[in-house]
Amino acid sequence: MRPPETSTNMKHARRAFTLIELLVVIAVISLLVSIILPSLSRAKGLAKTVVCAANAKGIGTAMYIYAEEFNERYPLASNVGNWGEYVAGVTPSIYSWMEQLFPYVEVKKLYVCPEKPNGSEYSYFLGTRAAWIDSMKYPDGPFFNPVIRSRIKYTSAYVLLGCTGRDFKGTYDDCDKDDYTQDCTGFPVHDKKVQTILFPDNHVKSYPGYVEGEMTFQYNKMVPWEEE
Ligand SMILES: [Zn+2]
Repeated sequence: MRPPETSTNMKHARRAFTLIELLVVIAVISLLVSIILPSLSRAKGLAKTVVCAANAKGIGTAMYIYAEEFNERYPLASNVGNWGEYVAGVTPSIYSWMEQLFPYVEVKKLYVCPEKPNGSEYSYFLGTRAAWIDSMKYPDGPFFNPVIRSRIKYTSAYVLLGCTGRDFKGTYDDCDKDDYTQDCTGFPVHDKKVQTILFPDNHVKSYPGYVEGEMTFQYNKMVPWEEE
């Protein structure tokens, strides 16, 4: 006849989990974590890239409307400046390109890439090199000028805007970033490999920097950012 189950017997039954089994379970869990964590962080990174591209497209739409209203001119970038202040060293006084554009953007968050790449609250530069190069032929040039949309020949290649890892943090939390005299490409942000670039036809793509044949900084020719 089977002896009645005592509390000692039950204790034995619960101790079925041996040390080796426990170690195996721990090993399996750590393996799973090591598999899942990187893909989680990859997914997070991808989500940030998608938000950045959406931001750039939103700003691009605002710039399209702005150019419609201002006789083909995009906002004028001129120097560094804090939000709410005139940009430094320019006469007549103007606000940053981000503020000129703001009535059409309406959401300030659009100016911030989720990676917050350059120590600044604002992440995007305005592609202004064509206007700067063009102004060199003026007797008193070169000077700050707006890019004129109708003069852009390669609307799917002109670098109009981008998120940049170039460090702008200084005296100013610059909301007037431009590439008149600073090449803002080649400072990758996302995964430290690529940055978001927006073109006048409002398409957006990730690039590690300048890519020959796909990008230009001039009105009439396909060229890299040139020295003066
Ligand atoms: Zn970005």
